[in-house]
Amino acid sequence: MQHIIEGFLNFQKEIFPQRKELFRSLASSQNPKALFISCSDSRLVPELVTQQEPGQLFVIRNAGNIVPSFGPEPGGVSATIEYAVVALGVTDIVICGHSNCGAMKAIAESQPLDPMPAVAHWLHYADAAKAVVEKKTWANEIDKVNAMVEENVIAQLNNIKTHPCVAVGLRNNAIRLHGWVYDIESGEIRTLDKNSKTYVSLADNPHVHFE
Ligand SMILES: [Zn+2]
Repeated sequence: MQHIIEGFLNFQKEIFPQRKELFRSLASSQNPKALFISCSDSRLVPELVTQQEPGQLFVIRNAGNIVPSFGPEPGGVSATIEYAVVALGVTDIVICGHSNCGAMKAIAESQPLDPMPAVAHWLHYADAAKAVVEKKTWANEIDKVNAMVEENVIAQLNNIKTHPCVAVGLRNNAIRLHGWVYDIESGEIRTLDKNSKTYVSLADNPHVHFE
């Protein structure tokens, strides 16, 4: 914890004074254009890998970058999506998975989750991805986990489309959806191409999006 507090003290003393104007301009309002939904994993830092300033990304993070389908009892993820779309008017939504995801590994390897009943329940929102992955045979566990990461992003993109505000935005061409997978070791991002249903390099295909 001492590292964290020392970091804050450094921020207050060195960083904040340099960025004073930015923070002043943000003091009473925000106007982010993108909603970024990613895993809570400590190794994926959305603002770092996209080089975005404070005020530019509206972020939801949870175990497995999961978006529950909309239903009669919407939870925190649904409420936050609704706020981003309706109140803030974001134009782009990115769902970003990552390599070596613990949540996706747990599903791919059918790890016993008895000591973590909330996690076990939460990961059921990835059941569609699990079913797709289980239908194939995999040469090794790493390939299976990678497939689970990719299919999970597709499943969560399908889930987010069940949210009324997102459905309206897509129908009116006011929202674009992006499915990304970030590779921790290489720092590369692959993006989902809807037409081919495959992931392609974001660097080589900056205009490809899911919907
Ligand atoms: Zn993860």
